[in-house]
Amino acid sequence: MSTIPYEPEFQQAYDELYSTLKDSTLFEQNPHLEKLIPIVSIPERIVQFRVTWEDDNGDIQVNRGYRVQFNSALGPYKGGLRFHPTVNLSVLKFLGYEQIFKNALTGLNMGGGKGGADFDPKGRSDNEIRRFCQAFMTELQRHIGPDTDVPAGDINVGGREIGYLFGTYKKLRNQFEGVLTGKGLTWGGSLIRPEATGYGLVYYVDEMIKYATEGKETFAGKRVAISGSGNVAQYAALKVIELGGTVVSLSDSRGAFLAQGEEGFNAEEISKIAEIKLVRKQLASLESDFSPKFKYIPGARPWVHAGKVDVALPCATQNEVSGEEAQALVANGCKYIAEGSNMGSTMEAIEVFENERMKTAGGIWYGPGKAANCGGVAVSGLEMAQNSQRSSWTSEEVDGKLKDIMVTCFNTCVSTAKNYSSENNSGLPSLVKGANIAGFVKVAHAMKDLGEFW
Ligand code: NDP
Repeated sequence: MSTIPYEPEFQQAYDELYSTLKDSTLFEQNPHLEKLIPIVSIPERIVQFRVTWEDDNGDIQVNRGYRVQFNSALGPYKGGLRFHPTVNLSVLKFLGYEQIFKNALTGLNMGGGKGGADFDPKGRSDNEIRRFCQAFMTELQRHIGPDTDVPAGDINVGGREIGYLFGTYKKLRNQFEGVLTGKGLTWGGSLIRPEATGYGLVYYVDEMIKYATEGKETFAGKRVAISGSGNVAQYAALKVIELGGTVVSLSDSRGAFLAQGEEGFNAEEISKIAEIKLVRKQLASLESDFSPKFKYIPGARPWVHAGKVDVALPCATQNEVSGEEAQALVANGCKYIAEGSNMGSTMEAIEVFENERMKTAGGIWYGPGKAANCGGVAVSGLEMAQNSQRSSWTSEEVDGKLKDIMVTCFNTCVSTAKNYSSENNSGLPSLVKGANIAGFVKVAHAMKDLGEFW
């Protein structure tokens, strides 16, 4: 497939997938599968639309809305909605592309999609956000449905926004049905959905630690650097704390908090952060509350400032770990890095991590977002199952299923990496190769069976 220079994020996601498949024995063993690459890399459909809405001054505002329906071989399109000024087709195509293979890794029947708008909720009132969501869904509702396309949340789309979107869909279609996930508990949501991505990430890393140390170590006693302070970061932090780890950093788009001593964040501090994030405030507003236990560094990401850490969990946005930051993490003794964010690491950072993995037995180990953050969409899949049955499961049931899915996903990544490895299998297997190959092969087989490629 020819490259698309005006879609750099999508090109990066494509290059990352294709280069790891090429760098394995997959195409040697199955030459026909390479023919699928140009086919699977073009979305089945993209919907673009205008969103006009009224601000608090009574003035008209306009934004661009999108839904990329990338692949439906395994089930209805499934993937979140992002509201952020940086949203464009390149970003949504990269997210949708990753989503196809991630959803395959959950073992559930979900296709891949992603959508959103270049709307910036910062500085907007609750009423403006409600009116924007209503305007956005007024158009999107024509293109989605519980058996067609089931969106969820992503950056700046949480429970409140899903409520406004669901309410609008219900009104316009006159149907109360499982068309969105991440819904509230009294109107069709699943327990553990808000927690799922962060918890799932930590369950995945726990498996990495146990595998690498042959069961000798767990999260207990580990120092953990986390970026972001939204949904994924908050619940990842809470689970790390529950498992006995120390969270030494959290950040947002304007700066980072770094622990100044041995002690990390506690649950009460995380809950303060959750409160201010709900009203769209910056972390800087907590500087005086958190000082001197935490130092606030404006404009910083945590990685070069975190000092000695065992684990790094990027949980904010794409390309938030550069090659130099990856080097700094390695130099500071970090052993495990796993992405809560999608495409959290640049290609240069992945190269650093993968080289380190191969250099030393027991070296650094990288868990890509496609696998490590699949817990969110997995519990969305469980929410769809509960909606279809018109029943709801307990927290313990959902959390147990989430854990099983993350453990199975980890084991699939390990075994697939070993099966298709061109390396000698003495060290840690490449989880990025394992995830990409396992996801791709599952989608390929379904597309072949469906006559979508031959
Ligand atoms: P939230 O909107 O809840 O939080 C996003 C966090 O990232 C905020 O702290 C935000 O800072 C920060 N952030 C956003 N954009 C940037 C940027 N350009 N530079 C630096 N920081 C930034 O989103 P989520 O927690 O839901 O999502 C975080 C990541 O996890 C995303 O990559 C998303 O795609 C991924 N993900 C989310 C899933 C989910 O279930 N929610 C599932 C799987 C992956 P600020 O508050 O200043 O804007």
